[in-house]
Amino acid sequence: MSIPNKHYGELKDSYLFFNIAQKVKKYQAEHPDKKMYRLGIGDVSLPLCDAVIKALHQGVDDQANKDSFHGYMPECGAPFLREKIAEYYNKRGVDITAEEAFVSSGASDELGDIIDMFDRNTSVLIMEPAYPAYVDANVMAGKKIYHLPTGRDEGFLPTPKSAEKEGIKADVIYICSPNNPTGAVYTKEGLKDWVDYANANGSVILFDAAYEAFIEDPSLPKSIFEIEGARTCAIEICSLSKTAGFTGTRLGYTVIPKTLERDGMNFNAMWVRNRTTKTNGVSYIIQRGGAAVFTDEGQKQIHENINIYKNNAKVIMQALDEVGIWYCGGKNAPYVWMKCPNGMGSWEFFDYLLENIQVIGTPGEGFGKCGEGYFRFSSFGSPEDTKEAAERIKNLLKK
Ligand code: PLP
Repeated sequence: MSIPNKHYGELKDSYLFFNIAQKVKKYQAEHPDKKMYRLGIGDVSLPLCDAVIKALHQGVDDQANKDSFHGYMPECGAPFLREKIAEYYNKRGVDITAEEAFVSSGASDELGDIIDMFDRNTSVLIMEPAYPAYVDANVMAGKKIYHLPTGRDEGFLPTPKSAEKEGIKADVIYICSPNNPTGAVYTKEGLKDWVDYANANGSVILFDAAYEAFIEDPSLPKSIFEIEGARTCAIEICSLSKTAGFTGTRLGYTVIPKTLERDGMNFNAMWVRNRTTKTNGVSYIIQRGGAAVFTDEGQKQIHENINIYKNNAKVIMQALDEVGIWYCGGKNAPYVWMKCPNGMGSWEFFDYLLENIQVIGTPGEGFGKCGEGYFRFSSFGSPEDTKEAAERIKNLLKK
Protein backbone atom coordinates (compact mmCIF):
# COMPACT_ATOMS: atom_id res chain seq x y z
CA MET A 1 0.00 0.00 0.00
CA SER A 2 1.28 3.46 -0.87
CA ILE A 3 -0.21 6.77 0.28
CA PRO A 4 0.51 8.72 -2.92
CA ASN A 5 -1.04 7.50 -6.16
CA LYS A 6 1.92 5.43 -7.34
CA HIS A 7 0.83 5.72 -10.95
CA TYR A 8 2.21 9.28 -11.00
CA GLY A 9 5.61 7.62 -10.81
CA GLU A 10 4.86 5.85 -14.10
CA LEU A 11 4.37 9.12 -16.02
CA LYS A 12 7.04 9.87 -18.59
CA ASP A 13 8.46 13.39 -18.39
CA SER A 14 6.48 15.59 -20.73
CA TYR A 15 9.61 16.77 -22.45
CA LEU A 16 8.11 17.84 -25.80
CA PHE A 17 7.31 21.51 -25.24
CA PHE A 18 10.01 21.83 -22.57
CA ASN A 19 12.66 20.55 -25.00
CA ILE A 20 11.42 22.88 -27.73
CA ALA A 21 11.53 25.86 -25.38
CA GLN A 22 15.06 24.97 -24.20
CA LYS A 23 16.38 24.59 -27.74
CA VAL A 24 14.80 27.87 -28.86
CA LYS A 25 16.09 29.70 -25.79
CA LYS A 26 19.63 28.46 -26.38
CA TYR A 27 19.53 29.38 -30.07
CA GLN A 28 18.10 32.82 -29.30
CA ALA A 29 20.80 33.49 -26.67
CA GLU A 30 23.47 32.61 -29.23
CA HIS A 31 21.80 34.59 -32.06
CA PRO A 32 20.07 37.57 -30.41
CA ASP A 33 19.66 39.36 -33.76
CA LYS A 34 17.58 36.58 -35.39
CA LYS A 35 13.78 36.73 -35.52
CA MET A 36 11.94 33.48 -34.80
CA TYR A 37 8.96 32.19 -36.80
CA ARG A 38 6.76 30.17 -34.49
CA LEU A 39 4.64 27.55 -36.24
CA GLY A 40 4.75 25.21 -33.28
CA ILE A 41 2.21 26.73 -30.97
CA GLY A 42 -1.16 25.17 -30.24
CA ASP A 43 -2.41 28.44 -28.76
CA VAL A 44 -4.45 30.99 -30.69
CA SER A 45 -3.12 34.44 -31.53
CA LEU A 46 -6.30 36.37 -32.42
CA PRO A 47 -8.40 38.07 -29.72
CA LEU A 48 -11.98 37.17 -28.79
CA CYS A 49 -14.56 38.42 -31.29
CA ASP A 50 -16.75 41.49 -30.66
CA ALA A 51 -19.94 39.55 -29.94
CA VAL A 52 -18.15 37.63 -27.15
CA ILE A 53 -16.51 40.75 -25.71
CA LYS A 54 -19.88 42.56 -25.60
CA ALA A 55 -21.50 39.60 -23.84
CA LEU A 56 -18.63 39.38 -21.32
CA HIS A 57 -19.01 43.08 -20.51
CA GLN A 58 -22.75 42.59 -20.10
CA GLY A 59 -22.02 39.65 -17.80
CA VAL A 60 -19.81 41.83 -15.61
CA ASP A 61 -22.51 44.53 -15.45
CA ASP A 62 -25.10 41.90 -14.49
CA GLN A 63 -22.92 40.95 -11.52
CA ALA A 64 -22.89 44.59 -10.38
CA ASN A 65 -26.66 44.76 -9.79
CA LYS A 66 -28.73 43.10 -7.13
CA ASP A 67 -31.48 42.16 -9.62
CA SER A 68 -29.22 40.56 -12.22
CA PHE A 69 -26.50 39.20 -9.92
CA HIS A 70 -25.74 35.47 -10.09
CA GLY A 71 -24.18 33.48 -7.27
CA TYR A 72 -23.43 29.79 -7.70
CA MET A 73 -24.29 28.62 -11.19
CA PRO A 74 -25.97 25.28 -11.90
CA GLU A 75 -23.22 22.64 -11.78
CA CYS A 76 -23.99 21.18 -15.21
CA GLY A 77 -24.14 24.60 -16.89
CA ALA A 78 -26.43 27.60 -17.19
CA PRO A 79 -29.69 26.65 -18.95
CA PHE A 80 -29.24 29.61 -21.37
CA LEU A 81 -25.93 28.14 -22.56
CA ARG A 82 -27.00 24.47 -22.54
CA GLU A 83 -29.94 25.45 -24.74
CA LYS A 84 -27.68 27.33 -27.16
CA ILE A 85 -25.36 24.31 -27.43
CA ALA A 86 -28.28 21.95 -28.08
CA GLU A 87 -29.56 24.38 -30.73
CA TYR A 88 -26.10 24.39 -32.36
CA TYR A 89 -26.46 20.61 -32.84
CA ASN A 90 -30.15 20.71 -33.79
CA LYS A 91 -29.45 23.24 -36.57
CA ARG A 92 -27.19 20.62 -38.13
CA GLY A 93 -29.90 17.98 -37.83
CA VAL A 94 -28.31 16.32 -34.77
CA ASP A 95 -30.79 15.40 -32.07
CA ILE A 96 -29.28 16.62 -28.77
CA THR A 97 -31.24 18.12 -25.87
CA ALA A 98 -30.06 20.81 -23.43
CA GLU A 99 -29.93 18.20 -20.66
CA GLU A 100 -27.45 16.19 -22.73
CA ALA A 101 -25.07 19.18 -23.09
CA PHE A 102 -22.84 19.84 -20.06
CA VAL A 103 -20.83 23.05 -19.76
CA SER A 104 -17.18 22.63 -18.79
CA SER A 105 -14.11 24.75 -18.14
CA GLY A 106 -12.46 23.32 -21.23
CA ALA A 107 -11.70 20.04 -22.94
CA SER A 108 -8.50 19.32 -21.02
CA ASP A 109 -10.26 19.55 -17.68
CA GLU A 110 -13.02 17.35 -18.97
CA LEU A 111 -10.75 14.73 -20.58
CA GLY A 112 -9.15 14.27 -17.19
CA ASP A 113 -12.36 14.31 -15.13
CA ILE A 114 -14.46 12.04 -17.35
CA ILE A 115 -12.24 9.03 -16.54
CA ASP A 116 -13.95 9.06 -13.12
CA MET A 117 -17.03 7.44 -14.67
CA PHE A 118 -15.17 4.34 -15.81
CA ASP A 119 -14.27 1.45 -13.58
CA ARG A 120 -10.65 1.31 -12.44
CA ASN A 121 -10.13 -1.95 -14.32
CA THR A 122 -11.33 -0.70 -17.71
CA SER A 123 -8.81 -0.52 -20.55
CA VAL A 124 -8.40 2.31 -23.05
CA LEU A 125 -7.38 2.45 -26.69
CA ILE A 126 -5.38 5.47 -27.79
CA MET A 127 -4.67 5.95 -31.49
CA GLU A 128 -1.23 7.42 -32.00
CA PRO A 129 0.18 9.93 -32.81
CA ALA A 130 -2.08 11.52 -30.17
CA TYR A 131 -2.70 14.61 -28.08
CA PRO A 132 -0.43 13.74 -25.10
CA ALA A 133 -3.06 14.34 -22.37
CA TYR A 134 -4.97 11.14 -23.29
CA VAL A 135 -2.08 8.92 -22.31
CA ASP A 136 -1.02 10.88 -19.23
CA ALA A 137 -4.53 11.14 -17.75
CA ASN A 138 -4.95 7.37 -18.08
CA VAL A 139 -1.50 6.63 -16.65
CA MET A 140 -2.48 8.72 -13.60
CA ALA A 141 -5.68 6.69 -13.28
CA GLY A 142 -3.73 3.42 -13.49
CA LYS A 143 -5.58 2.25 -16.61
CA LYS A 144 -4.42 -0.43 -19.00
CA ILE A 145 -3.51 1.52 -22.13
CA TYR A 146 -3.42 0.02 -25.61
CA HIS A 147 -1.43 2.19 -28.00
CA LEU A 148 -2.67 1.79 -31.56
CA PRO A 149 0.01 3.11 -33.90
CA THR A 150 -1.08 4.50 -37.23
CA GLY A 151 0.70 5.72 -40.33
CA ARG A 152 0.60 7.23 -43.74
CA ASP A 153 -0.72 4.09 -45.46
CA GLU A 154 -4.06 4.47 -43.64
CA GLY A 155 -4.01 8.27 -43.79
CA PHE A 156 -3.41 8.36 -40.01
CA LEU A 157 -7.02 7.18 -39.56
CA PRO A 158 -6.95 3.69 -38.06
CA THR A 159 -9.95 1.39 -38.39
CA PRO A 160 -11.38 -1.19 -35.98
CA LYS A 161 -9.68 -3.78 -38.21
CA SER A 162 -6.30 -2.21 -37.35
CA ALA A 163 -7.16 -2.64 -33.65
CA GLU A 164 -8.23 -6.24 -34.20
CA LYS A 165 -5.03 -6.95 -36.12
CA GLU A 166 -3.05 -5.72 -33.10
CA GLY A 167 -5.15 -7.94 -30.83
CA ILE A 168 -6.61 -4.91 -29.03
CA LYS A 169 -10.07 -4.99 -27.43
CA ALA A 170 -10.57 -1.96 -25.19
CA ASP A 171 -13.44 -0.69 -23.05
CA VAL A 172 -12.88 2.98 -23.85
CA ILE A 173 -11.80 4.25 -27.28
CA TYR A 174 -10.36 7.74 -27.83
CA ILE A 175 -11.02 9.31 -31.22
CA CYS A 176 -9.86 12.82 -32.11
CA SER A 177 -11.23 14.18 -35.39
CA PRO A 178 -10.05 16.59 -36.80
CA ASN A 179 -6.93 15.17 -35.28
CA ASN A 180 -4.24 16.86 -33.29
CA PRO A 181 -1.45 16.46 -34.43
CA THR A 182 -2.13 14.95 -37.89
CA GLY A 183 -5.05 17.12 -39.04
CA ALA A 184 -6.65 13.94 -40.42
CA VAL A 185 -10.47 13.83 -40.35
CA TYR A 186 -12.69 10.74 -40.31
CA THR A 187 -15.37 10.41 -42.97
CA LYS A 188 -18.89 9.40 -41.92
CA GLU A 189 -18.16 5.85 -43.11
CA GLY A 190 -14.91 5.73 -41.13
CA LEU A 191 -16.67 6.85 -37.93
CA LYS A 192 -19.58 4.48 -38.56
CA ASP A 193 -17.12 1.56 -38.46
CA TRP A 194 -15.99 2.67 -34.99
CA VAL A 195 -19.56 3.26 -33.80
CA ASP A 196 -20.65 -0.21 -34.96
CA TYR A 197 -17.54 -1.74 -33.38
CA ALA A 198 -18.16 0.05 -30.04
CA ASN A 199 -21.84 -0.96 -29.96
CA ALA A 200 -20.98 -4.57 -30.81
CA ASN A 201 -18.28 -4.80 -28.12
CA GLY A 202 -19.93 -2.69 -25.43
CA SER A 203 -17.11 -0.11 -25.57
CA VAL A 204 -17.56 3.64 -25.07
CA ILE A 205 -16.05 6.15 -27.51
CA LEU A 206 -14.63 9.39 -26.13
CA PHE A 207 -14.84 11.66 -29.17
CA ASP A 208 -12.65 14.76 -28.97
CA ALA A 209 -14.18 17.37 -31.29
CA ALA A 210 -11.99 20.30 -30.19
CA TYR A 211 -11.37 21.24 -33.85
CA GLU A 212 -14.84 20.59 -35.35
CA ALA A 213 -15.24 24.23 -36.36
CA PHE A 214 -12.31 23.89 -38.78
CA ILE A 215 -14.15 21.39 -40.97
CA GLU A 216 -15.18 23.04 -44.24
CA ASP A 217 -16.00 19.96 -46.33
CA PRO A 218 -19.78 19.50 -45.80
CA SER A 219 -19.52 15.74 -46.28
CA LEU A 220 -17.26 15.31 -43.21
CA PRO A 221 -18.85 14.80 -39.78
CA LYS A 222 -18.31 17.55 -37.19
CA SER A 223 -19.90 15.48 -34.47
CA ILE A 224 -19.94 11.76 -33.81
CA PHE A 225 -23.69 12.15 -33.19
CA GLU A 226 -24.12 12.65 -36.93
CA ILE A 227 -23.47 8.89 -37.11
CA GLU A 228 -26.33 6.45 -36.63
CA GLY A 229 -25.84 4.41 -33.48
CA ALA A 230 -23.55 6.91 -31.72
CA ARG A 231 -26.17 7.79 -29.10
CA THR A 232 -25.66 4.37 -27.51
CA CYS A 233 -21.85 4.37 -27.49
CA ALA A 234 -20.32 7.85 -27.48
CA ILE A 235 -19.46 10.89 -25.40
CA GLU A 236 -18.35 14.03 -27.24
CA ILE A 237 -15.92 16.50 -25.69
CA CYS A 238 -15.75 19.98 -27.22
CA SER A 239 -13.97 23.21 -26.54
CA LEU A 240 -14.34 26.87 -27.42
CA SER A 241 -10.55 27.26 -27.19
CA LYS A 242 -9.67 26.98 -30.87
CA THR A 243 -13.21 27.53 -32.14
CA ALA A 244 -13.57 30.96 -30.56
CA GLY A 245 -10.23 31.89 -28.97
CA PHE A 246 -11.17 30.81 -25.42
CA THR A 247 -7.77 29.27 -24.54
CA GLY A 248 -7.27 31.83 -21.77
CA THR A 249 -10.97 32.45 -21.06
CA ARG A 250 -11.79 28.74 -20.56
CA LEU A 251 -15.02 27.18 -21.70
CA GLY A 252 -16.01 23.88 -23.24
CA TYR A 253 -18.93 21.46 -23.35
CA THR A 254 -19.49 17.74 -23.25
CA VAL A 255 -22.37 15.87 -24.79
CA ILE A 256 -23.56 12.71 -23.05
CA PRO A 257 -26.74 11.23 -24.55
CA LYS A 258 -29.37 9.99 -22.14
CA THR A 259 -29.35 6.76 -24.15
CA LEU A 260 -25.74 5.85 -23.25
CA GLU A 261 -25.85 2.98 -20.80
CA ARG A 262 -23.57 0.12 -19.81
CA ASP A 263 -24.22 -2.61 -17.25
CA GLY A 264 -27.48 -0.98 -16.19
CA MET A 265 -25.89 2.39 -15.46
CA ASN A 266 -26.70 5.62 -17.28
CA PHE A 267 -23.73 7.87 -18.10
CA ASN A 268 -25.78 11.07 -18.35
CA ALA A 269 -27.16 10.53 -14.85
CA MET A 270 -23.71 9.59 -13.56
CA TRP A 271 -22.22 12.78 -14.96
CA VAL A 272 -24.96 14.90 -13.34
CA ARG A 273 -24.05 13.19 -10.06
CA ASN A 274 -20.34 13.75 -10.71
CA ARG A 275 -20.71 17.43 -11.56
CA THR A 276 -23.04 18.20 -8.67
CA THR A 277 -20.41 16.70 -6.36
CA LYS A 278 -17.16 17.87 -7.92
CA THR A 279 -17.83 21.37 -9.30
CA ASN A 280 -19.83 24.43 -8.45
CA GLY A 281 -20.27 25.37 -12.08
CA VAL A 282 -18.47 27.64 -14.50
CA SER A 283 -18.38 31.44 -14.04
CA TYR A 284 -21.61 33.20 -15.04
CA ILE A 285 -19.64 35.87 -16.92
CA ILE A 286 -17.72 33.34 -19.00
CA GLN A 287 -20.89 31.40 -19.80
CA ARG A 288 -22.48 34.64 -21.03
CA GLY A 289 -19.47 35.11 -23.31
CA GLY A 290 -19.73 31.48 -24.44
CA ALA A 291 -23.43 31.81 -25.31
CA ALA A 292 -22.56 34.67 -27.67
CA VAL A 293 -20.42 32.26 -29.73
CA PHE A 294 -23.59 30.40 -30.72
CA THR A 295 -25.50 33.45 -31.94
CA ASP A 296 -25.59 34.21 -35.69
CA GLU A 297 -23.34 37.22 -35.15
CA GLY A 298 -20.92 35.19 -33.00
CA GLN A 299 -20.75 32.37 -35.55
CA LYS A 300 -20.02 34.83 -38.34
CA GLN A 301 -17.27 36.51 -36.36
CA ILE A 302 -15.55 33.34 -35.10
CA HIS A 303 -15.47 32.01 -38.66
CA GLU A 304 -13.75 35.19 -39.81
CA ASN A 305 -10.94 34.34 -37.36
CA ILE A 306 -10.95 30.65 -38.27
CA ASN A 307 -10.59 31.66 -41.93
CA ILE A 308 -7.47 33.64 -41.08
CA TYR A 309 -5.98 30.49 -39.50
CA LYS A 310 -7.18 28.36 -42.39
CA ASN A 311 -5.47 30.72 -44.78
CA ASN A 312 -2.23 30.29 -42.82
CA ALA A 313 -2.61 26.53 -43.24
CA LYS A 314 -3.08 27.06 -46.99
CA VAL A 315 0.13 29.08 -47.17
CA ILE A 316 2.04 26.26 -45.43
CA MET A 317 0.47 23.61 -47.67
CA GLN A 318 1.32 25.56 -50.83
CA ALA A 319 4.97 25.77 -49.76
CA LEU A 320 5.08 22.00 -49.14
CA ASP A 321 3.35 21.33 -52.47
CA GLU A 322 5.96 23.39 -54.27
CA VAL A 323 8.83 21.36 -52.84
CA GLY A 324 6.98 18.05 -53.26
CA ILE A 325 6.71 17.06 -49.61
CA TRP A 326 4.01 14.67 -48.42
CA TYR A 327 1.61 16.01 -45.78
CA CYS A 328 -1.90 15.54 -44.50
CA GLY A 329 -4.28 17.85 -42.62
CA GLY A 330 -4.49 21.59 -43.13
CA LYS A 331 -7.70 21.64 -45.16
CA ASN A 332 -10.26 20.76 -42.48
CA ALA A 333 -7.93 21.25 -39.53
CA PRO A 334 -5.53 23.85 -38.15
CA TYR A 335 -2.54 21.47 -38.27
CA VAL A 336 -0.39 20.38 -41.18
CA TRP A 337 1.44 17.09 -40.59
CA MET A 338 4.39 16.58 -42.93
CA LYS A 339 6.91 13.84 -43.65
CA CYS A 340 10.42 15.03 -42.79
CA PRO A 341 12.53 15.25 -45.94
CA ASN A 342 15.49 12.98 -46.78
CA GLY A 343 14.70 10.45 -44.07
CA MET A 344 15.39 12.97 -41.30
CA GLY A 345 14.18 12.24 -37.78
CA SER A 346 11.66 14.60 -36.15
CA TRP A 347 14.15 16.28 -33.83
CA GLU A 348 16.83 16.37 -36.51
CA PHE A 349 14.39 18.26 -38.75
CA PHE A 350 13.46 20.55 -35.86
CA ASP A 351 17.15 21.52 -35.41
CA TYR A 352 17.60 21.87 -39.18
CA LEU A 353 14.73 24.38 -39.45
CA LEU A 354 15.75 26.28 -36.33
CA GLU A 355 19.38 26.63 -37.29
CA ASN A 356 18.89 27.43 -40.96
CA ILE A 357 15.70 29.44 -41.19
CA GLN A 358 14.61 30.09 -37.56
CA VAL A 359 11.26 28.36 -38.13
CA ILE A 360 9.87 26.49 -35.13
CA GLY A 361 7.53 23.53 -35.49
CA THR A 362 6.71 20.48 -33.37
CA PRO A 363 8.54 17.16 -33.79
CA GLY A 364 6.07 14.35 -34.49
CA GLU A 365 7.87 11.97 -32.17
CA GLY A 366 6.49 13.97 -29.23
CA PHE A 367 2.99 12.62 -30.02
CA GLY A 368 3.95 8.95 -29.83
CA LYS A 369 6.64 6.69 -31.27
CA CYS A 370 4.95 6.34 -34.65
CA GLY A 371 5.17 10.13 -35.07
CA GLU A 372 8.94 9.78 -35.57
CA GLY A 373 9.94 11.05 -39.01
CA TYR A 374 7.00 13.50 -39.10
CA PHE A 375 6.59 17.13 -38.14
CA ARG A 376 3.61 19.33 -37.18
CA PHE A 377 3.03 22.89 -38.26
CA SER A 378 0.29 24.91 -36.60
CA SER A 379 -1.71 27.61 -38.37
CA PHE A 380 -2.41 29.65 -35.23
CA GLY A 381 0.45 32.14 -35.78
CA SER A 382 0.21 35.54 -37.43
CA PRO A 383 -0.35 35.64 -41.23
CA GLU A 384 2.81 37.73 -41.70
CA ASP A 385 5.04 35.28 -39.81
CA THR A 386 3.40 32.28 -41.46
CA LYS A 387 4.00 33.76 -44.92
CA GLU A 388 7.64 34.47 -44.17
CA ALA A 389 8.12 31.03 -42.57
CA ALA A 390 6.55 29.31 -45.60
CA GLU A 391 8.85 31.24 -47.95
CA ARG A 392 11.86 30.21 -45.89
CA ILE A 393 10.75 26.55 -45.79
CA LYS A 394 10.32 26.58 -49.58
CA ASN A 395 13.75 28.08 -50.22
CA LEU A 396 15.49 25.74 -47.79
CA LEU A 397 13.86 22.52 -48.99
CA LYS A 398 14.22 23.40 -52.69
CA LYS A 399 17.98 23.07 -52.35
N1 PLP B 1 -8.19 18.25 -27.22
C1 PLP B 1 -7.29 18.47 -28.18
C2 PLP B 1 -7.18 17.51 -29.30
C3 PLP B 1 -6.45 19.59 -28.12
O1 PLP B 1 -5.55 19.79 -29.07
C4 PLP B 1 -6.59 20.49 -27.03
C5 PLP B 1 -5.72 21.67 -26.91
O2 PLP B 1 -4.79 21.89 -27.61
C6 PLP B 1 -7.54 20.21 -26.06
C7 PLP B 1 -8.33 19.08 -26.18
C8 PLP B 1 -7.69 21.08 -24.86
O3 PLP B 1 -8.51 22.13 -25.08
P1 PLP B 1 -8.95 23.12 -23.90
O4 PLP B 1 -8.20 24.41 -24.13
O5 PLP B 1 -10.41 23.29 -24.06
O6 PLP B 1 -8.59 22.52 -22.59
